[in-house]
Amino acid sequence: MDKKLLQSADAAHLMHPFSDFKEMVEEGTRLITNAEDAYIVDVDGHRMLDAMSGLWCCNLGYSRKEIIKAIDDQLNTLPYYNSFFQCTTPASVELARVISEIAPEGMNNVFFTGSGSEANDTNLRMIRRYWDLKEQPEKRIIISRKNAYHGSTIAGASLGGMNGMHKQFSRLDNIVHIDQPYWFEEGGDMSPEEFGIHAANALETKIQELGPERVAAFIAEPIQGAGGVIIPPESYWPQIKKILAKYDILMVMDEVIFGFGRTGQWFGSQYYDIQPDLLTFAKAVTNGYYPLGGVMVGDKVADVLKSGGGEFTHGYTYSAHPAACAAGLATINILRDEKIIEKMAEDTGPYLQQRWKELGEHRIVGEARGLGFVGALELVKDKASRARFDDKCTAGAICRTMSIKNGLVMRATGDAMIIAPPLILTREQVDELITKAERALDDTA
Ligand code: PLP
Repeated sequence: MDKKLLQSADAAHLMHPFSDFKEMVEEGTRLITNAEDAYIVDVDGHRMLDAMSGLWCCNLGYSRKEIIKAIDDQLNTLPYYNSFFQCTTPASVELARVISEIAPEGMNNVFFTGSGSEANDTNLRMIRRYWDLKEQPEKRIIISRKNAYHGSTIAGASLGGMNGMHKQFSRLDNIVHIDQPYWFEEGGDMSPEEFGIHAANALETKIQELGPERVAAFIAEPIQGAGGVIIPPESYWPQIKKILAKYDILMVMDEVIFGFGRTGQWFGSQYYDIQPDLLTFAKAVTNGYYPLGGVMVGDKVADVLKSGGGEFTHGYTYSAHPAACAAGLATINILRDEKIIEKMAEDTGPYLQQRWKELGEHRIVGEARGLGFVGALELVKDKASRARFDDKCTAGAICRTMSIKNGLVMRATGDAMIIAPPLILTREQVDELITKAERALDDTA
């Protein structure tokens, strides 16, 4: 493998997602060449513990041959067929059935897509169709949250609340954003519980301002992931549930990150005891080995869509791709058979959280928060005042340098450093993660 040739071809031809193209040309790309267990290896042979599971995908790590074999077997039997026009394949039917078994209660239908973004586009179409069939076509507005990430198609970016994305493209109409439940940054003098209620009540205020008869749905992640691992106070979700029920507004849970085990339950909705009407999934459904996303559709919505009749004029060429569905089945089988989620919830999850929270003592950490197998460190220059570093990119700089220097991949979002490691980490690997993260903090402080 000729590194220089690859890097110059990369600079000349490959436009990377979410990258500064100029920086890429000047700095050269990191080439990841192979991976095993929870580690990735770059072209120079640096081996790094991947505490981000790729891009929140590889909950089972990189070495699950069963998933690869399932994909291979499927490609050798039926490499492609579509699911359009009353047609489908056995793997997609079987995966829909199995997903209905593990889904939150009352979610017995699945619409497959190729990605999380496409799934959120699908949500918009389903929500519109649902209210039209219910003869309430004035229900058009979706409420989302600031700093949320819901994908990168125009609909996904509009649903998301990231200013940087909105600046580069105008947003779709009829999508509005309320504040996120970010206690560390916005809680002021309130206790987390007071702040949870306060943040949830912002939803009711917004509904009243818009007129409840115009509000179709609320979309949120159980925990805001790419937005900085914002863990809501305990009081937040119960209050949101009450408000949505009061005004007859659909609940869309985006579980692209938290689905398939990350909280210690199959879905974050189950962790927070939420019964969504629609649930977005992607990423870990195939352990990241094959592109697949989808929407789980609750009975309340599915019954209306099914009984309404007429074609639902929406779908993708790769909806329910058979090889992707085979990968999904193999992934779920491993998670079930090996009790991966239960083991993490009972043992390595609490252990990771205990050790992670020790990092909160570090002099440049204002808060170490986490749950299940996610965590965030809020970096501060001064612990008492919570003053931030002048250089907004400190977290980014640490993450970049520490991956090679310290052999650990984390990610920066604003002033936070975040982790979402594979659920299969052993206690020893958790210790390795903490030691390496601490070393990176020491190097900076
Ligand atoms: N929703 C959430 C919560 C996500 O984190 C992501 C991706 O990170 C998406 C949607 C979009 O998924 P995809 O990149 O598969 O389109």
